[in-house]
Amino acid sequence: MYCPFCGAEDTKVIDSRLVADGGQVRRRRECLSCKERFTTFEVAELLMPRIIKNDGTREPFDESKLRSGLQRALEKRPVGVEQIEAAIAQIKHGLQTTGEREVPSRLVGEKVMEALRDLDQVAYVRFASVYRSFQDISEFRAELDRLELAGPTGDKRGGEAS
Ligand SMILES: [Zn+2]
Repeated sequence: MYCPFCGAEDTKVIDSRLVADGGQVRRRRECLSCKERFTTFEVAELLMPRIIKNDGTREPFDESKLRSGLQRALEKRPVGVEQIEAAIAQIKHGLQTTGEREVPSRLVGEKVMEALRDLDQVAYVRFASVYRSFQDISEFRAELDRLELAGPTGDKRGGEAS
């Protein structure tokens, strides 16, 4: 980086160490032109991107909204609080690692669906049927078949055949 004193382009790192429990790198630098020394801190930028809604407006990422959405989909399902929290952490991490400052709300929805698909298939279908608003019923049925929701009991499939 440029020297903050004289603006020279060439500065040399003379010391580099981890600080703040490894969360930061502190570097001592020396300007090769004016010989002034200065310190820089490097931290990973893990900001939550802002959410671009369908109507084009932006809003801050809302973790409590994400949590209540998951809880609604997982109502009366055998999924514990810790699993939900782990899913939230996974979704947040996925959004942070996009490196984008803004992401469409659709992307959040896709990540929620991915998380639910791993957690609980009934909750996944609940969420997906509302969220994705399947183009037609055959698409929705194909998704159900793919998940093999009919499973060993076969109840669903039997009903549909009549
Ligand atoms: Zn300088």
